[in-house]
Amino acid sequence: MAQSVTGPEIERLIQLLSKLPGLGPRSARRAALHLIKKKDELLVPLAKAMDVAVEAIVVCSTCGSIDTSDPCAICKDPRRDASTIVVVEDVADLWALERAAVINARYHVLGGALSPLDGIGPDDLGISRLVARVAAGGVDEVILAVNATVEGQTTAHFIMDQLAGMNVKVSRLAHGVPVGGELDYLDEGTLSAAMKSRRPF
Ligand SMILES: [Zn+2]
Repeated sequence: MAQSVTGPEIERLIQLLSKLPGLGPRSARRAALHLIKKKDELLVPLAKAMDVAVEAIVVCSTCGSIDTSDPCAICKDPRRDASTIVVVEDVADLWALERAAVINARYHVLGGALSPLDGIGPDDLGISRLVARVAAGGVDEVILAVNATVEGQTTAHFIMDQLAGMNVKVSRLAHGVPVGGELDYLDEGTLSAAMKSRRPF
């Protein structure tokens, strides 16, 4: 085993940083060193911001998103179209849609996708909470903005079944050629989905 060159406090920092997505042990060491060198501008404010975040973070009991208030900022925003609910797997997906500013609706965050092999069932995803929101009325459309993976599509079908017979339109995101995409580079699954979901020009 390689000999440690720093004290246990710094080793611990590196070890924790290496658990972040996209950071391996090597980049975690670089990040730790950068933080330490920029102690006053970066390390101290970051530590404080993390402390504050730990205290403030709550999960919205309506939509399942993460915010510092319950209901979250989106759920209590009267300018949002409450008649449309966009269902996403993860908070990251919600943030991506918000960054793109593509829809001014409310959301429902599942926190994952159905995956029997991993033991993730409907009860783990708050799907009954979604059904209850629709049953409460005032919702015209549910948009299934789940991932184009087997798990995502299984989840979409399950939700569609749960909402069947309720007076609500259920739609899902189109699958196909990405903006700026060249056909020659697309995989067969994407090409096939694009061909199937072709539209009149
Ligand atoms: Zn919310």
